[in-house]
Amino acid sequence: MQGDAGRRGTANLVSRGVRRTAGKRDGSSQVKGFVVRTKYQLCQSCSLPLDSDSYGTNADGSKNTDYCKYCFDNGKFTQNCTMDEVIDLCVPYVMSITPGLSEETARTQLGKLFPTLKRWK
Ligand SMILES: [Zn+2]
Repeated sequence: MQGDAGRRGTANLVSRGVRRTAGKRDGSSQVKGFVVRTKYQLCQSCSLPLDSDSYGTNADGSKNTDYCKYCFDNGKFTQNCTMDEVIDLCVPYVMSITPGLSEETARTQLGKLFPTLKRWK
């Protein structure tokens, strides 16, 4: 009984410490989020992972949480391009953040992902 509480406390500390360190390398977890398309919210135009620093802005200056600041600024899209054009722009970017990814695979992934984004639906 008396040793129980102490042992549990130590185990908690250890597992928490490991978790923290594993996820703390800047940007890398976001990169993963983009590739596997899971827990990160994506820009609904270019599929960039969004966080509070990269949200676009509405005409009234408030944040637009659907799009990133590169796509959507001051209430409108910054570039008037087609979905295929945005995919062309994104392929080199996806390849640069995903070592070993071929252009063909990047294009296939984006070709599946983009039609699900709000701007291209
Ligand atoms: Zn965007």
